[in-house]
Amino acid sequence: MSYALIVAEVRRGVFEERNLDSVGLAALLGKETVLFVPEGPYQIPEKIADTIVRAKTAEETFLNPLNLTKMLEQIFAGRGKPDYLIFTQSSSGMECAPYSAGFFGLPVITDVSAYDKDKGIFYKSYYSDKVFGEFKPAGGAAVVLTVRSGSFKECAAERSVAAKIEELSGIAETEGRVFIEYVEEEKSDIDITKADFLLSVGRGIGNKDEIPAYEDLANKLKAVLSGSRPVIDKMWLPKPRQVGTSGKTVKPKVYLAMGISGAFQHIAGMKDSDCIIAVNKDTEAPIFQYAHFGIIADIHKVRDKLKEIVNG
Ligand SMILES: Cc1cc2nc3c(=O)[nH]c(=O)nc-3n(C[C@H](O)[C@H](O)[C@H](O)COP(=O)(O)OP(=O)(O)OC[C@H]3O[C@@H](n4cnc5c(N)ncnc54)[C@H](O)[C@@H]3O)c2cc1C
Repeated sequence: MSYALIVAEVRRGVFEERNLDSVGLAALLGKETVLFVPEGPYQIPEKIADTIVRAKTAEETFLNPLNLTKMLEQIFAGRGKPDYLIFTQSSSGMECAPYSAGFFGLPVITDVSAYDKDKGIFYKSYYSDKVFGEFKPAGGAAVVLTVRSGSFKECAAERSVAAKIEELSGIAETEGRVFIEYVEEEKSDIDITKADFLLSVGRGIGNKDEIPAYEDLANKLKAVLSGSRPVIDKMWLPKPRQVGTSGKTVKPKVYLAMGISGAFQHIAGMKDSDCIIAVNKDTEAPIFQYAHFGIIADIHKVRDKLKEIVNG
């Protein structure tokens, strides 16, 4: 049977809007569309697909690629492998799509943002949409796709009749890892991405007791205090203040880095700042390669000197 299977995302009881991008791409592909969903009381448009397969399992089971592939195997056993197995380009889609591709021996094309129906070509972007790659499944093979949010929603036309509902028994046991809970990001009244001047401190400050003195300097300079990951991991500053790949990307007018070595995960979050000033006692610290101005000195001495200057 020729069909596109969409793995839907339901998060905390809500059928995610970005599923419509997967539905839209499936419509462009012109295949019968089967939507695979977890059980739950959430709202779902009843004419969204030709068939809805509802697994008797909680939404969290869909977060685990090992569980998911076990359930997909059950679907494939009844219908055969789909021509397209579609995920959203989300944190779970990015995890489950390549795993499923490996598990079922299928090729994968991630972050699809456009599709040329005549040529059968999928497009994905590189360099923040400056360049697009064109991809075609070799020999017309079945393929796993992840779909960029906002790319195909308008193609998601309603069916004339409500979807046929099928039930899947789900899986008896959770494999490999257990989902515990969702944890909300710590709320913060300060948004470091909006600051013009960031004073960012790293492990080089030594210990938590130094934070008030740097906070005081930040206030005097009309700057906002941020930090590198070790400072956040040690809970010297709250998580929303973290700069870097697993924190925030910032682009202030001035980025003053004190006691930060310049690991690439940190640099990725601040390298586009207009003016980077680095203070470090190590002349070889990588941060100096990105800094417009560098001061080789003890940060605490520089801090005290700056306070003296601002105090007049
Ligand atoms: C998956 C992953 C994600 C990550 N995400 C992030 C991220 O989002 N943000 C991030 O920052 N890191 C991130 N990291 C961690 C990153 O690899 C580095 O470990 C981290 O950036 C180092 O922080 P640091 O520069 O404060 O500490 P260090 O590398 O320990 O550097 C401290 C610096 O302070 C200097 N110093 C010490 N004392 C003084 C002094 N008295 N005066 C002057 N200089 C002094 C030292 O010479 C040194 O250069 C991530 C890592 C991984 C694996």
